[in-house]
Amino acid sequence: LAMNFRGPRQIRLDRNKPEPEIKHPYDAIVRVTRSLICGSDLHLYHGRVPDTRVGMTFGHEFTGVVEAVGSGVQKLKVGDHVLVPFNVACGSCPHCKQELYGNCNESNPQATAVGGFFGYAHTGGGYDGGQAEYVRVPYADVSPTIIPAGMDLENAVLLTDVVPTGYQAAEQGGIHKGDTVVVFGAGPVGLMAARFAWFFGAARVIVIDHVDYRLEFARKFAFAEAYNYRDMKDPVLFVKKATDYFGADVCIDAVGCDASGSALQDITGKGLLLQAGSATALHWAINSVKKGGIVSIIGVYGPPWNLAPIGSLMNKGITIRANQASVKRLLPKLIDHIMSGRINPKEMITHRIPLEDVSDAYRMFSSKLDHIIKPLLIPPR
Ligand code: NAD
Ligand code: ZN
Repeated sequence: LAMNFRGPRQIRLDRNKPEPEIKHPYDAIVRVTRSLICGSDLHLYHGRVPDTRVGMTFGHEFTGVVEAVGSGVQKLKVGDHVLVPFNVACGSCPHCKQELYGNCNESNPQATAVGGFFGYAHTGGGYDGGQAEYVRVPYADVSPTIIPAGMDLENAVLLTDVVPTGYQAAEQGGIHKGDTVVVFGAGPVGLMAARFAWFFGAARVIVIDHVDYRLEFARKFAFAEAYNYRDMKDPVLFVKKATDYFGADVCIDAVGCDASGSALQDITGKGLLLQAGSATALHWAINSVKKGGIVSIIGVYGPPWNLAPIGSLMNKGITIRANQASVKRLLPKLIDHIMSGRINPKEMITHRIPLEDVSDAYRMFSSKLDHIIKPLLIPPR
């Protein structure tokens, strides 16, 4: 069984997809034990990412048991239960050598500027992903990590993306002790970023979204102040007022492009016309951070939303820090945070859905039905 992309908002279950085979001596074949659907998959689902080809299997967040290894694989053994970071990384190019595993130069022949990713269109290298029973894992000795004894499988699978991504969002923000941090987006990535903002010494963490149940979750899970932008006249003014008109020290964009199209819309319902689905949250972040502040972009933007308000950036002396998360770099620290009980990210998993129902799972997650935060897919065995 494998998830199968047929076009925007059309996901099917493929019962006949051939099992993947070893193509290169450094490959492994992994039998998936758990996989997740990510907000990044929604960009593919909504048709926001160029060169997303029909027939592709998505899924860049998965754990699994090693079924076979190529002749060059030395560390990984058949039977190992591993978590597989979403970055496909060669481990030896100049970027990987600097631990920039999200920017590997070798793993993505399509575009050297972008790293390789499982299940992320041909712009991400064209690798099939883990929303399936089996997946081919290239460079098997580099990123796959044996799940530590005693670690809950649901926490392990969240280590493949959301936990390190949220951490890196906060880290990139360069948060200092006493800072006010504003996180746009209360999806799993924003929730983790808000939670980790405290680890870097934030004195105040504000989360902004428009989905009330997620805001409620942000209060409990991330101990954040959480506000619905539909209750505001203007989110930028709101942040200004909340910070004595200085602006936030750090703003984090954990939204990226969304599904609502690119026409001007009254998205707060208060008469303020904005280009919904474009870079709304990013504009809010840039306009509500203090002069000289840092905006950390972790949200994903497909073209044509590669836009930023350049004028405001220059006038305010803002630093933008943005990247794909480097999962492998962060794993040792984050495994420790989980094993010591400082974080329990699996609280975010609200839905456990058989892989057979993957198409329903996408529909639910996209429409934010049934208070969904993070859906887990369970293969048949
Ligand atoms: P998600 O879709 O579950 O959450 C996004 C949230 O943003 C939703 O709750 C939505 O209501 C909210 N939102 C929409 N427009 C908003 C706005 N203008 N202001 C405030 N909130 C708004 O997604 P997620 O899984 O949490 O991922 C968030 C983003 O992070 C996505 O763009 C995803 O592609 C990206 N991501 C990046 C990396 C990386 O390595 N850089 C890794 C994983 C995910
Ligand atoms: Zn993801």
